[in-house]
Amino acid sequence: MVTTHNLGFPRIGAGRELKFALESYWKGGSPRTALEDLGAALRRRHWASQAALDWVPVGDFSFYDQMLDMSVTLGNLPERARRLGGDALDTYFRVARGRSAPDAACGGEDADCCAGIAAGEMTKWFNTNYHYIVPELAADTGFRLDPSRLLGQLAESRAAGVNAKPVLIGPVTYLALAKAKDGSDRLGLLPRLLAVYASLLDALASAGATWVQIDEPVLATDLDADWRHAFHEAYHALKSARVKLLLATYFGPLRENLYLAATLPVAGLHLDVTVGRDDILPVCNLLSSHKVLSLGVIDGRNVWKTDLNAVLDWLEPVARQFGSRLWIAPSCSLLHVPVDLECEEELDPEVKSWLAFALQKLDELQVLARALREGREAVRVELDANRAALAARRRSPRVHDPAVQARGAAIPSQGGARASPHAVRAARQAALLNLPAYPTTTIGSFPQTAEIRRVRSEFRAGRVAAAAYRKAMEDEIARCVREQEALGLDVLVHGEPERNDMVEYFGEQLEGFAFSRHGWVQSYGSRCVKPPILFGDVHRPKAMTVDWIRYAQSRTTRPMKGMLTGPVTMCNWSFVRDDQPRSASCRQLALAIRDEVLDLEAAGIRVIQIDEAALREGLPLRRAEWDGYLDWAVASFRIAANGVRDETQIHTHMCYSEFNDIIAAIARMDADVITIETARSDMELLDAFEDVAYPNAIGPGVYDIHTPNVPATDQIVAAMRKAAARIPAERLWVNPDCGLKTRRWEEALPALANMVAAAKVLRAG
Ligand code: GLN
Ligand code: ZN
Repeated sequence: MVTTHNLGFPRIGAGRELKFALESYWKGGSPRTALEDLGAALRRRHWASQAALDWVPVGDFSFYDQMLDMSVTLGNLPERARRLGGDALDTYFRVARGRSAPDAACGGEDADCCAGIAAGEMTKWFNTNYHYIVPELAADTGFRLDPSRLLGQLAESRAAGVNAKPVLIGPVTYLALAKAKDGSDRLGLLPRLLAVYASLLDALASAGATWVQIDEPVLATDLDADWRHAFHEAYHALKSARVKLLLATYFGPLRENLYLAATLPVAGLHLDVTVGRDDILPVCNLLSSHKVLSLGVIDGRNVWKTDLNAVLDWLEPVARQFGSRLWIAPSCSLLHVPVDLECEEELDPEVKSWLAFALQKLDELQVLARALREGREAVRVELDANRAALAARRRSPRVHDPAVQARGAAIPSQGGARASPHAVRAARQAALLNLPAYPTTTIGSFPQTAEIRRVRSEFRAGRVAAAAYRKAMEDEIARCVREQEALGLDVLVHGEPERNDMVEYFGEQLEGFAFSRHGWVQSYGSRCVKPPILFGDVHRPKAMTVDWIRYAQSRTTRPMKGMLTGPVTMCNWSFVRDDQPRSASCRQLALAIRDEVLDLEAAGIRVIQIDEAALREGLPLRRAEWDGYLDWAVASFRIAANGVRDETQIHTHMCYSEFNDIIAAIARMDADVITIETARSDMELLDAFEDVAYPNAIGPGVYDIHTPNVPATDQIVAAMRKAAARIPAERLWVNPDCGLKTRRWEEALPALANMVAAAKVLRAG
């Protein structure tokens, strides 16, 4: 008899209840008890939704982040946060969010205390769009068990009658994702860490746990001999635990780590077979006869219905072989998908019939389990409905547009090239644009005032008429242009007042995208995103930005930069259809953006920026797959950008600072100008550009827009001089790190004034 379980449930709540409770608590708008009660209520509700499962995850709930929770459990919070007093939750949020002003836990007397503390660093959780708080380590880090959160939730779950399976981050993954602040070898801490894990497992056993899920997703990444050895050391050390360990891997196939994973002394192994079907057979052969095999058969990272009949076709033989040793589950925690499709009352019913969110995925799991237990006949109705929905999707003219497909096939695989090399283009552009040395520009958005947001949302709700909306936006654009002229910026932007989100704005105007109302997914802490759903062949029915940009250009004689989101970023921040390769969807997006680029050019716009904020995020977990990804990502950008004349200047923007690994691909994009984030890294990252003799122009961000701080003129001058030591001055631009939409005008204006003043100093030599 097959066993069902789940690796984790979205904790934010179907109505983002946790987000609102956290933000209210942080603002001092509600007491601690309200937050704690809400947490308990969400846990109860989520356990109830999973009651049909044989094993329900416990300890997957978090007030902020599961890695930070694990750091608390292991007694590994940075000293700077612990010093401040307050209780455990105060400390926890301090690490999560940092603090720049005195908080409730601090009476304000202690100067050191009130100087503010730095938040823990945040980074992406594998190749998802979730971000975790990076644990901090040093050679002398000592761990000390604090099992209270897990034991508390375990007791709570047992009181609620839940068949609880506590969930932990495993020791090797914990170390692998941590950062040694002193550069010491993280693996040196493993023995100390394992002692704490052993006590933790012991505590869980004493509290009645029988199975514990221990997540080791690093097994799906490239591991060197030391890290592979760490797995042996870790799981041999934990072998005598009084609980059974289910070692959970996900996000990728195990490949060369498969033998290691299958032979560790644990009671069960979970594989993500939505991406690692090839692992099944070898694992079946390797797994010793007392071990449980858990198969993640339902995609925990996408929103499409599973092809249940197809899964059963290959799963039934495995079930016969494994009998009661087979467990089934979603591939990974359902943290990465929205909670409930049923909330989507306004979603196009046809598209909706193809989708499954977290709750629907658990229903699918039950159908599979019943089919395995009682035979497919027992769930005939469900299986037939599933088959019919998938067949309808395959046939739907909403999904397949022959014109789009024919067009995609006609584009050269590398995306085509500009007519001339950059040096030639640069000269032509210079003659036309007539820019000074060290030209100044911004990244696109200007501060989004409460009033702008209000008009936009009233317009969406139908309470503001189209003409009034248009007028309000144009007034704002005109204001942005005035301010930029007054500042003396060289290449202007329209300010993006009409855009709520850089992907949603374009997705809404393209065929092939659908939008949910409540399909929120946690990005970090209380921050959620609502990824667009790319379900079909993409095309652009009509121009998307031209009217706004043309209006903006009409207000100035300086060059106005057209502002677009690039195809790779659109792809990486959406739920992308699973019935064709991502590369194919990305090419279609690229063609749609190309149309827009050409329309802007035809409208007389001479500078066009195509943002690729998320290009790096799409890198596969395995190095061996990077080139494949970068090839199609770069080709997509080139399709979007390279249709223009030499005279038209293409910019791109990337808001991060790690380019070493991908610099060759960046160079192949061949944008005339790339603006990047550098304000925090002191221009060191320009080394990468220097090393490959990057030939095109670069705008290293000199104003960190992530803080309210105003950079001083001489600070900007100094940063640019460092840049000029690496990149010839004639190829440097002066600009902020990223868009200004989260800043206030009072912050942005003085900062930009200093930036322009700095450019003048630089031009004077
Ligand atoms: N053009 C966008 C803006 O300025 C870019 C945002 C981003 O890079 N994340 O807001
Ligand atoms: Zn950016």
